Amino acid sequence: MKTFFITGTDTGVGKTYTTLALGALLREAGLDAGVFKPVQSGVGDAEFLKDRLGLADNLREINPYCAKEPLSPHIAFPRAGIKLVPAKIIAAFDKVAARHEIMLVEGAGGLLVPLVKGYGMADLARDLGGRLVIVARLGLGTINHTLLTVREARRQGLTVAGIIFCDTTGGRKGIAEQTNPQAVQELADVPVLGTIPFLKQTDMARVARCCRGQIDLKVLLAEPPPDTARLLALDKQYVWHPFTQMQDWLADVPGKPLVIDRGAGSYLIDSDGKRYLDGSSSLWVTVHGHRHPVLDEALQRQADKIAHSTMLGLANRPAVELAAKLVGIAPQGLEKVFYSDNGSTSVEIALKMAYQYWQNTGQKKKTALVHLANSYHGDTLGSVSVGGIDLFHQVYRKLVFKTIELDMPDCYRAPAGKQYPDHAFEAVARFEELLKKKHAEIAALVVEPIVQGAAGMIMWPAGVLRCFEQLCRKYDVFLIADEVATGFGRTGTMFACEQEAVHPDFLCVAKGITGGYLPLAATLTTRRVFDGFLFSYQEMKTFFHGHTYTGNPLACAVAIANIDLFKQARVLEKLQPKIAFLSRRLECLKAYPCVGDIRQRGFMVGVELVVDRQKKTPFPWQERIGARVCEAARQYGVLLRPLGNVIVLMPPLSMTCAELATMVGAVEKAIDHVVGQTT
Ligand SMILES: *Cc1c(COP(=O)(O)O)cnc(C)c1O
Repeated sequence: MKTFFITGTDTGVGKTYTTLALGALLREAGLDAGVFKPVQSGVGDAEFLKDRLGLADNLREINPYCAKEPLSPHIAFPRAGIKLVPAKIIAAFDKVAARHEIMLVEGAGGLLVPLVKGYGMADLARDLGGRLVIVARLGLGTINHTLLTVREARRQGLTVAGIIFCDTTGGRKGIAEQTNPQAVQELADVPVLGTIPFLKQTDMARVARCCRGQIDLKVLLAEPPPDTARLLALDKQYVWHPFTQMQDWLADVPGKPLVIDRGAGSYLIDSDGKRYLDGSSSLWVTVHGHRHPVLDEALQRQADKIAHSTMLGLANRPAVELAAKLVGIAPQGLEKVFYSDNGSTSVEIALKMAYQYWQNTGQKKKTALVHLANSYHGDTLGSVSVGGIDLFHQVYRKLVFKTIELDMPDCYRAPAGKQYPDHAFEAVARFEELLKKKHAEIAALVVEPIVQGAAGMIMWPAGVLRCFEQLCRKYDVFLIADEVATGFGRTGTMFACEQEAVHPDFLCVAKGITGGYLPLAATLTTRRVFDGFLFSYQEMKTFFHGHTYTGNPLACAVAIANIDLFKQARVLEKLQPKIAFLSRRLECLKAYPCVGDIRQRGFMVGVELVVDRQKKTPFPWQERIGARVCEAARQYGVLLRPLGNVIVLMPPLSMTCAELATMVGAVEKAIDHVVGQTT
C-alpha cells in the first residue's frame, strides 16, 4: 500500500481538485485509489471526492472529523465542541487504507497548520506514513510559497514525492504561469509532476480525460527501492561494532542486523520502513522520544548560528547557559561544570580532579580510589580502573591503575546465611572499616548511586547511598556520584542522589543530558574542589585536561532544551503514574518460573532469567539466554538489549502506557517463545 499526503502551499490552491485528478488518473490506470480526509472544516470535500470517485467507503470513515466553520482545525473544532484526537485519525486511516492499494490523504491548509496544541499537519503526515504531494497555485508569488513548503517538509523529515501545480482559475497564462513549474523544479530539487488544467466538469471520466498526460504518474509512483542489502554489505565490510563479537555479527543471518533509518517518538524505523518500540532508549539516552519538535528546533536554531567553537580560551553562549541550568537542577553544593563528551570521560575527569585536589592542597598521600564490586563507569582505561565487571574488565587488569574494590553484594543473591537488605549495609560497615584504617590515603569513593546499571540493574536498598555519603563526610573522602545512567529522570527523580538527599562532591552526567541527541557529558563539582585548583600558573596546579569538542554548542543547545522540557512538559510529574503502571504490567512476567527477579526503579527495569527460581540458578552464560529473548522480542516489534541473563527495559520517559504495555507484552511473548512454560 502506498500513501500520498496531499498538502498545499496555502489554502485554496486546489488540493481537492488535485486529489480528484490523481484519484481519477490512478483509477483509470487500474489502481484502487482510496481517499482520506482527516479533518474537514467548512466545505464538504470528503463527500465530493467520495461521490466523484465512486468510492464505496463510508463517509464517516473517510472523514473522521468534520466541523462547519471554514477555520483552521485548532479553532474550528473547539468552537464546534469537538475534541480532536490524532490517535483516532490514525486508527480511522488504517481501517480505510486496509481496503485500498493507494491512499490519497488530503490535508487541510499547509504543513504548519495545527490540529491540536503541539500537533500539526506535518506530524499527521509523518504519522500516517507515505510521501508528500505539494500542491501549488499557478501564478505570481508561488515560487516563494512552494520553496518554503519544500524546505519545511525536509526539515520535518518528510519525503516529497513531487509538486503539482493546479490551475484554479482557467485564466490566461502569462509568463509567470508558463515559467513557474520549471523555476520551481530547478530551485526545489524535487520533481514537478505536472499541472492540473482548470477543471470545468468534475465527473471522474471527464477529469481523467482532461488530465491524461498532464501528470507524470510514473515519477509519482516510483519509490526508491530499500537499500538495506547495500548498507548491510558496507557495514560488514567496514564497520567494527562496540561490545560485539564480530564473528557472530558477520555470520549471515537473514533479516539481521537491522539498519535504523529514522525515529519517531518511542519508535525506531528501519531501512525497510518497519517500526520497532525503542525499549532501551537507544542505549539509555532517549528521554522525550525521537524527533521531539522542541529538541529538533533547538538543534536547528543552533546549527543556523554555529556548530562548534573551542572552549580553550573562548566561551560560547550555549555552554554558559547550560552550565547555569545544570547547577540549577543538580543537588545543592555543586556549583562548577566541566564539560566533556561521554560518560567515561566525565568519570575520568572526576577521578583526576579528586586526585589532583589532594595533590594541590598538600595531602599528597591521599591517592587511592575506592569503587564497588560490579561497578561500571565506562570503557576508557581510567574508568575501567574503577570498573568491577570481570567480563568487560579482566583482560585489561595489567593495563589499569590499582584501586580498592569494596565488596558490594547483589540485592537479589544474598551471600549464604545473609539476608536482604542487611547484607547491603554490611558493605557500608566494610567501607567504614577501610576508612578507619586508610582514610588518609583515600582520595574518593566512586559509585553509581542506587542502581548499578551495567551490572544487570542491581538496586540498593534505601539508605545505603546515604550511609556512604555520611562516611565520606566523616573521613573527608570525596564522593563521586556517577549518574551517567541514572540522571535525567531515569529513577523517577531528576537525579538518583535526590532520593536520599545526598550531596556528592562530584556528579557525572552524560547519556540523557541531551535527551539522546548528541554526545555530551559534564562533571559537576563543588566550590571547595574548584578552589583547590586556584593558584598562580607557575605553581603548575592547573587542571590540565580538555577534549577537543568540550562544550560543543550544538550539544549544549539541545541539552538546554532537554532540561527546559522537563519543566514545561511536567515530565517527572507525568512519569509517576506511568512508573506504577509499568510495575503492575510487569507482574504478568511472574507467571514464568524462569523469571527469577523483576527489579525496577522508575524507568530502569531488570528482569533476571534463571534456570530455577527457588535456587536462583543462573542460566549458563554460554546459552545467551538474554540475547535470545531480546532477539525474539524483535518479532513482536520491540528492540531491547540485555545484560547477560537480565532483560533490560529502559523506555524513553515519554513512552505512553499503551506503548509500555506493548513492550512488556513483547517481552512476555519472547520469554514464552524462548524458554516457554508458565506455572
Ligand atoms: C554508560 C555509562 C558510562 C559510560 O558512558 P559512555 O558515554 O558510554 O562513555 C559510565 N557510567 C555509567 C553508570 C554508565 O551507565
